[in-house]
Amino acid sequence: MKNQYVGDINDYRKYGLIRLIQSVANLNILIAWMLTPDDDSNDGNILEYLQQSLKWSLFDSELYCALNDALSSGSTRGVSLIERSGILGKANYFSVIVPDDLDDRTQWFEDLVLASADADFVFLDPDNGLEIKSKAIGAKYSSKFLYYSEVEALWRKGKSLLIYQHFPHVKRSQYIAQRANDLQMHTKGATVEVFFTPHVAFFLLLQKEHAGLKEQIGNEVLARWPHQFGVWSRENLGIENKKAREVAVKCESEGGFKSGSTKTTAIGYINRNNQKNLGHRNKPGTDHGQVAYKMQCQINQCGHKYGSNGTDIFQRKCPKCQSGLPGIDY
Ligand SMILES: [Zn+2]
Repeated sequence: MKNQYVGDINDYRKYGLIRLIQSVANLNILIAWMLTPDDDSNDGNILEYLQQSLKWSLFDSELYCALNDALSSGSTRGVSLIERSGILGKANYFSVIVPDDLDDRTQWFEDLVLASADADFVFLDPDNGLEIKSKAIGAKYSSKFLYYSEVEALWRKGKSLLIYQHFPHVKRSQYIAQRANDLQMHTKGATVEVFFTPHVAFFLLLQKEHAGLKEQIGNEVLARWPHQFGVWSRENLGIENKKAREVAVKCESEGGFKSGSTKTTAIGYINRNNQKNLGHRNKPGTDHGQVAYKMQCQINQCGHKYGSNGTDIFQRKCPKCQSGLPGIDY
């Protein structure tokens, strides 16, 4: 996991799946982020879904709005936002950065095992996923992978596991089957299920005492996240007609707009011309040092939306129905 991915569309589904598992079983969950340093790529910039509530909020509206809030708070994007937000309930977190070096990695894993002492369920979130032949543990960038030896060790400690896996460019169904088979060999007696999206799979490995959850979790995934997750053991069960159980909601902080720090720049402020401030998203305005705010005319039948410099909000007039100056980009 990288801090730069926090809150992107894949992240939304990921927390959705964990929350769903929490809701069907009273598990003591440890989230092992398997953090690695951010890079310069654009990975993780897929945030448009946070402005499309009609389409996206209905899978888990509470989570959807919480992510909207977290990402519009102006705080630096990172897993600590998730830890603080409470969206994963009473989960505990292991947030130490994964080292490449073999000795450091061994220590890191020992610390992870210690941190998981009270957990009966561990979510492992490596950047790429499970180990590959060309990347021995201890090699450069081995920190992006989870190794079977580590899976085995946690399994022997009695932990049920959920493992993140990014799909390589190979046939998805074969890949899932092969990995599930490999995992089964390393986790004696595990009940295995796989949830997947176009780019990502989650391998669920349940200890005997949790085996009964497989059915329940599968049912809930199909009921709450239709068209979002495939469920490996039920690929042909006709999930196409399902509708999500929740209804779409509109979040207060939708679209990443946030308040300024003064009375007139706060979201919801309405000026003497009946023009309402809807917040900014750090886009520079046209005056020195200003950011552009989104405004909406509150005059009956108008509702025109346009941009304004923060300093102009208090006296802004609607460009459409009050002959105000043209709006600026927001
Ligand atoms: Zn107007």
